[in-house]
Amino acid sequence: MEASATYSAAASRGARANSGNGPTFTPVDIGHDGYLGLVDPATAFWSLVRKDRLTDVLAGGPLRDAYLQKRDGFRREMEKLRFGLAASAVYFNPTDRCDLDCRYCYIPKETRRGGAHMPRERMFAALEALQAYFERTLDSGAAPQIIFHGAEPLLNKEAVLAAIDHFGGYFRFGVQTNGANLDPETLSFITSRGVGLGLSLDGATAATADRTRRTWGGAGVFGKVDALLESLRGYHNYNVICTVSSENMGELTAIVEYFHAKQVPVCMLNPVRLTMPGAREIKPADHELVPLYLAALDRTRQLYRDTGRKLVVANFANVLVSILAPMARRLMCDITPCGGGRAFFAVAANGDLFPCSEFVGVPRYKGGNLFADGVEAAMASAPFAAMRERLAERIEPCRDCALRHFCGAPCPAEADQLNGGLNTPGGFCELYEEQVRYALRAVADGAENDFLWDKWDADTVTTFQAGAL
Ligand code: SF4
Ligand code: SF4
Repeated sequence: MEASATYSAAASRGARANSGNGPTFTPVDIGHDGYLGLVDPATAFWSLVRKDRLTDVLAGGPLRDAYLQKRDGFRREMEKLRFGLAASAVYFNPTDRCDLDCRYCYIPKETRRGGAHMPRERMFAALEALQAYFERTLDSGAAPQIIFHGAEPLLNKEAVLAAIDHFGGYFRFGVQTNGANLDPETLSFITSRGVGLGLSLDGATAATADRTRRTWGGAGVFGKVDALLESLRGYHNYNVICTVSSENMGELTAIVEYFHAKQVPVCMLNPVRLTMPGAREIKPADHELVPLYLAALDRTRQLYRDTGRKLVVANFANVLVSILAPMARRLMCDITPCGGGRAFFAVAANGDLFPCSEFVGVPRYKGGNLFADGVEAAMASAPFAAMRERLAERIEPCRDCALRHFCGAPCPAEADQLNGGLNTPGGFCELYEEQVRYALRAVADGAENDFLWDKWDADTVTTFQAGAL
């Protein structure tokens, strides 16, 4: 039986691609010898097509028939991902202060230098309010996540550790830290409880790492973080964030080699967020960064093949997962709306609520205060609503980009500061385009698992096995 289009009331059988009710199959050159990508940009469906078969596939056949049977399901899945998720995580700033003055930090200097800690009693009250919120909104048995975030959370260490101790039965906790205050007792507390740990480090040597991350007095912290990586050998619930800028892009391959040698299980190679002028000074040009970035990904694959041990580059792995199984993605920056103000939100040290940590320090994005207004009021506030209305379809040129649901035009905080509005693109485009092409090449070569977490698909249902035509 010929597949029929259920997509609209138009009198079209959808017999051919790219007209009427036919599937939208946009060919995408992925730089592969044998294959092209075919993408339906609206549903993020994709297939790989042998270059000599493209005309046949566009004219109809098994791929079209099978896709039309599944298209409505793909649409519903994408709707759920983009508009149907309940909040399940909070980025929680237990202090405004930081002991470092990194060149690209998105929190204003005066806040980091002179801000306040959240007192322990206040933190407990905040976590009680958050628990009550999640008990109202999530299924019982859900374990929402609290990530203590910066500024530098461990400057308010006593309150943070007491909170983890007290609320550990309900929340899953994580701590994102610069490492400068992470003493052996605190490290032992964190690892013995299985708390997620994120460290920041921008180089494989002090000469590189200390260019961007340093104390107010100008001293580097590479040596301290390097020693922590030694202490963390064998601990699996941690990652290292490397902020990629013009200061370290030439050493990305050396950096992943260094992380791998230290047995870091997961890293992120995040392009510098251009929210503040200091960050914009060290922005790499996309076309110069791309070959260096992809060479570092190549190196992680080779290291895995040589040693049998992976260094997962989580932000790239998330792009791969967004292609293979959109609902299984773990990070929410590469979809619009992004996760800020819907899948998670941020609490500042005075209880103010923001859609994402990136907006802490931008007062007009405050959605309310946890103590005075509550989470529901913040979720309904105009700044949070504006975040949820930031769709790639409203952004030039993303609205016409076949890769828009694999890239997500990140980041709204960056776009707003850089271009004067949420519905504008972020500071990097070619970098994301080329990561998606690289991911599709990896799939074409059957190499995707070289880049992914083990058991990444444990809870994933395969809804379509298009294979390569
Ligand atoms: S894209 Fe930016 S604002 Fe959105 S979740 Fe990611 S970091 Fe936060
Ligand atoms: S930023 Fe670039 S790659 Fe990403 S959706 Fe927009 S146009 Fe596409």
